[in-house]
Amino acid sequence: MQRRTFIQSTLTTAAGLALPWREPMAVLDRIAPHRQRDVIAVTGDGKDVTLTSDALADLAARLRGRLLLANDDGYDDARRILNPSFDKRPALIVQATGVADIRTAVDFARTNQGLLLAVKCGGHSLSGKSTCDRGMQLDLSHFRSVRVDPSARMAWVTGGSLLGAVDHEAMAHGLVTPLGTVSHTGVGGLVTGGGFGRLARRYGLSVDNLVAVDVVTADGQLRHASADENPDLFWGVRGGGGNFGVVTSFDFRLHPMQREVVAGRIMFPIARARDVLSLYADYAPEAPDELHLDCGVMLPPRGADGMAGFGICYSGPAGGADRALAPLRRLGTPLTDQVRTMDYVALQRSGDVDDPRAQGSYTKSGFVAEMRPELVTAIVEGLAGHPARSTQLFFQQGGGAIGRVAADATAFPQRDVQANMLCFVGWRHGDDATEHVRWIQRYWTGLEPYTHGFYVNDLEVDHSTAAVQANYRQNHDRLVAVKNRYDPANLFRLNANVRPSV
Ligand code: FAD
Repeated sequence: MQRRTFIQSTLTTAAGLALPWREPMAVLDRIAPHRQRDVIAVTGDGKDVTLTSDALADLAARLRGRLLLANDDGYDDARRILNPSFDKRPALIVQATGVADIRTAVDFARTNQGLLLAVKCGGHSLSGKSTCDRGMQLDLSHFRSVRVDPSARMAWVTGGSLLGAVDHEAMAHGLVTPLGTVSHTGVGGLVTGGGFGRLARRYGLSVDNLVAVDVVTADGQLRHASADENPDLFWGVRGGGGNFGVVTSFDFRLHPMQREVVAGRIMFPIARARDVLSLYADYAPEAPDELHLDCGVMLPPRGADGMAGFGICYSGPAGGADRALAPLRRLGTPLTDQVRTMDYVALQRSGDVDDPRAQGSYTKSGFVAEMRPELVTAIVEGLAGHPARSTQLFFQQGGGAIGRVAADATAFPQRDVQANMLCFVGWRHGDDATEHVRWIQRYWTGLEPYTHGFYVNDLEVDHSTAAVQANYRQNHDRLVAVKNRYDPANLFRLNANVRPSV
């Protein structure tokens, strides 16, 4: 029987029944709108492909989550990511509720000539790779859960989860795993690319704390990957971003830690920027592993006074903070000193944005092997000509446990860096961004010579293919081999893409 005829006859039968027969009716509700039209989508190679109404109806029927097409309720909300500057319109969105839906979506994308496929977890991608025009968006935001086993010191986290949930659940047992600094960032993107954060110098990057992952690869199979099982896939997922499939489960090692840390900001007037940055350059590499020290300069919007200073988290034994922070105190009296004892989970939420979609942004970034005085000069002098005053430049600290892992132990090669330097400009969404973007690009040309590669999670729209390949350094060839094995047709290409060679 033709699918269309089948659905019609089923509808007739269902209409004839009085309602307790709920489940089939719910499925038919979901099928109906999508049956009515074919959709022209695009493949990863940029070719048009027709998705017939029957194929879409069939896809909808196979899912437990929703299939959203343009104009469906929820479509606009789902397609958006954190940065509203990326205003893209996928041909279809699959809102997966679990592994079965993810496999179905991946199969559908592959068998329809390799649809352009974007995978969205927390939606923080700086280059807008978790959404796309005319392809399929696989939205994992309905696939969120965290399970902690305190006695095994392990957490199992599903692929759509956000960092805040992991911090919250683990700390309820006095346990942590190192994650990023903004609680609504996705585990899916942050962890597959590396994972810098307030505990990274103590416990390593997030990838260094993975014990195993489950991955739906391009062939639609679910694969467990660990040091003993599919070790090449496990290696690649730890730093190779979303290149090898959709990670459906992250198995994290947890560490005991007290709930209270000493944390906050110490800020100085912008006129002290050179002193602040110079002190950071000298002290950050030799600071104790328990001290997380970010440093930056900030020109707030609307002409308010600029500042330079430190974001601090000391997670070591009580009483150790004063000693660890003593070098910073030598800078003299700051404008503000908010350092105090506070709840680690609250600290992890303190940088969250209330209405993230109200602000457009543009970011440039690069790793700094050594923070030389010439870089400090370039940062300070370059800021002088700033027209727009809505900018931050800051350093995410490297070193400590991050640098004690061999560059080829995981796919993340930049173990030797002192810091990740990010320069960010924001504007009210809807305002003309041209001036802001042009200015920051010009500013960056003075800073870029001091960088060496970039963090894959800070991939920019401007990065060339050659720069992306070179950025994987000595791990590139091995990554290509893993890509050839698990995604030879490059279905997962919206990322810092490793090009397959087969
Ligand atoms: P998404 O946009 O949802 O996904 C980004 C990419 O990750 C996707 O294109 C896809 O390729 C891949 N992906 C997502 N989920 C999966 C999955 N389940 N399986 C396989 N691939 C997947 N980085 C740090 O290291 N530390 C920080 O403290 C930090 N803070 C940040 C704060 C903000 C406000 C922002 C915007 C970014 C920050 N980042 C930080 C960078 C961050 O790591 C990247 O933006 C990361 O990609 C975000 O992950 P996401 O899941 O939120 O993003």
